Amino acid sequence: MITHSQATALANMLHELRPKWSIPSMMKVLERNAQHPGTFRDLALAAVNAARDPKVDTPGGIFTDHRFWPETVRASLPKPPPCEDHIGKDAHNCASCWADVKAGIRPRDLIGRHYEPESEEDHDAPASP
Ligand SMILES: [Zn+2]
Repeated sequence: MITHSQATALANMLHELRPKWSIPSMMKVLERNAQHPGTFRDLALAAVNAARDPKVDTPGGIFTDHRFWPETVRASLPKPPPCEDHIGKDAHNCASCWADVKAGIRPRDLIGRHYEPESEEDHDAPASP
């Protein structure tokens, strides 16, 4: 649980660390997670660590990536959503998706999401009546 002035301070600082993370969108993410079980201390630390991690693209990663939280808080966090394409992997840091990105066969913004590479759809053509 954090206060409005704590959220404002954190949003401004994170924007300095990651200019792409706008203050209004940070405020939205923090508002959405206002009931988070972690203390402001834990949140500030998790947020800074997330902002420094190039694998974290959006501020939502602060809350979905459990690596940034102390062991004691981790137990009370909701389970992160699973990767839509790889069974048993978490969506936010799926190693299989990252391998696809490095191989150039998956766009980076589709990590953890279902992705079907563009292919000829000719073989799906409706049979003639
Ligand atoms: Zn995946």
